[in-house]
Amino acid sequence: MSSNPTSDLTALIRTIPDFPKPGIQFRDITTLLADGDGLRDLTAALAEIARPLDPDLIVGIEARGFILGAALALSIGKGFVPVRKKGKLPGKTVGIDYVLEYGTDRLEMHEGQVPQGSRVLLVDDLIATGGTANAAAQLLREQGAIVLMALFAIDLPALGGIAALEADGVAARAIMT
Ligand code: AMP
Repeated sequence: MSSNPTSDLTALIRTIPDFPKPGIQFRDITTLLADGDGLRDLTAALAEIARPLDPDLIVGIEARGFILGAALALSIGKGFVPVRKKGKLPGKTVGIDYVLEYGTDRLEMHEGQVPQGSRVLLVDDLIATGGTANAAAQLLREQGAIVLMALFAIDLPALGGIAALEADGVAARAIMT
């Protein structure tokens, strides 16, 4: 599936104003996920970028990165590892604190689930400022992983996330803006 499906995919995403707080234009992918052709085409577009990189693992960021990351992992025959918000994983974790617009947050993953030297592909639904993906990439590097790329369904270019990731040495791509 290498035709350019992005215009159709963009039409399947809706924007909900003022969610979760005033001023945020929330890009809601649930409408795309609920469309069988859309989900297949988005997964195929992600796979087209991921397959040549031949990652050992797909790492998805909570929560929508789990859906797209797992679909991608299944599609290219790789395993999936979740990076979760603080306190959600049952086993022993490693984590990283990162700065948000107001305050801080923490991302965690299971210790040892990404073996040292693993070549991983990071996936999330959307990149805005890049703070979340950057923290996840840093956590993965601290575990000795090689982050081949951070891959997103949607980029909000005005917020400069892809440029910020690339400035930190993480290759980054998105399927649509
Ligand atoms: P950032 O760390 O600023 O790049 O924000 C990216 C994370 O926040 C991703 O996990 C997105 O799912 C979520 N996010 C940020 N802004 C939006 C938005 N406008 N619509 C939907 N999700 C968003």
